[in-house]
Amino acid sequence: MVEHDYYDLLGVGRGADDAAIKAAYRSLAKEHHPDRHNGCSNKEAQFKAINEAYDVLKDPQKRAAYDRFGRAAFQNGGGQDPFGDAGFNGFSDIFSTIFGEFMDPRAQQNAARGADLRYDLEMSFDEAFTGVEKTIAVQAMATCEKCDGRGCNGLDRCTSACQTCGGMGKVRAQQGFFVVERGCPTCRGAGEVITDPCANCHGEGRAHGQRKLAVQIPAGVDEGTRIRVAGEGEAGVRGAASGDLYIFVHMKRHPIYAREGTTLIADCPVSFTTAALGGSISLPGIDGKPVELKIPTGIQSGEQLRHRGAGMSVLNGRGRGDLVARILVETPTRMSAKQKKLLEEFRGTETGDECPASKSFFARARDFLGG
Ligand SMILES: [Zn+2]
Ligand SMILES: [Zn+2]
Repeated sequence: MVEHDYYDLLGVGRGADDAAIKAAYRSLAKEHHPDRHNGCSNKEAQFKAINEAYDVLKDPQKRAAYDRFGRAAFQNGGGQDPFGDAGFNGFSDIFSTIFGEFMDPRAQQNAARGADLRYDLEMSFDEAFTGVEKTIAVQAMATCEKCDGRGCNGLDRCTSACQTCGGMGKVRAQQGFFVVERGCPTCRGAGEVITDPCANCHGEGRAHGQRKLAVQIPAGVDEGTRIRVAGEGEAGVRGAASGDLYIFVHMKRHPIYAREGTTLIADCPVSFTTAALGGSISLPGIDGKPVELKIPTGIQSGEQLRHRGAGMSVLNGRGRGDLVARILVETPTRMSAKQKKLLEEFRGTETGDECPASKSFFARARDFLGG
């Protein structure tokens, strides 16, 4: 057998760069692929030779050895094999790496796997704080109860090898220059067809249904938290793997608190006398215990009081966030005649130093006018 030069086989010059070698190989491999020639032995030999040439020339070390010693560099027992057993490893793996790219990706996966499902779940702050077990109703394809997912009418085997794909589950088809491999449309990748299908599911092994599911929602979840429940999605075709169920958490509004991560925030109006004289307020804690906050004398609107560790639970962690009260000083709108009189008396005693911010503001305003 005549041994062609590797460069000649690929139709490139000895100075060709890697990209040129790869491009030449690809177009030749496509042209000589055995699938296109129904196993014609002549073409198959040529295909092997092209692969062998490419295996050497794509590797800089092997290519350098080939340039110096020719094929002798790779002949075992020739005493010149610089790579030993790792030198040349046939073409089967080259075949898969090159042609893997051309395969229909859906053929690679199990086409019969059930779809993933989404479930939107509304939760209260209390539930998110403690974590909770929720029973949810999932409306989806479920494993057929009549045939237990087998798809058969009776208890005996009711399948035979698929004629379309010869039991392989995959078919190859020519698409322009490409040989595309895809899941068999007749058996949907199973390699066999049902001869006596279940009346309930028509041989699919699954049917529309509703099922109740108890799911554990951990403490600390928030708006947008996604919980994956493996295997609780749509049932697969004839006993194939089920998809997964994804629970998307949504938070109901709370009458008092808003939430920023683990921080609970309350906009908290306090009366002007409490703000002026100091005092305390009590907020309902998310854990059911009241949270007492001390109001210091002279607190202003917009100031924040923080109570550490009285906030939300930490998701997948320990401890709690903080509770923050944002103070809004409330001016009285309904006063008795007596209260008004007392306030008038208070005003009569004012010197302007009671409220330094307003004193300073109006002083600046006067300066501006006068200056
Ligand atoms: Zn088939
Ligand atoms: Zn069935």
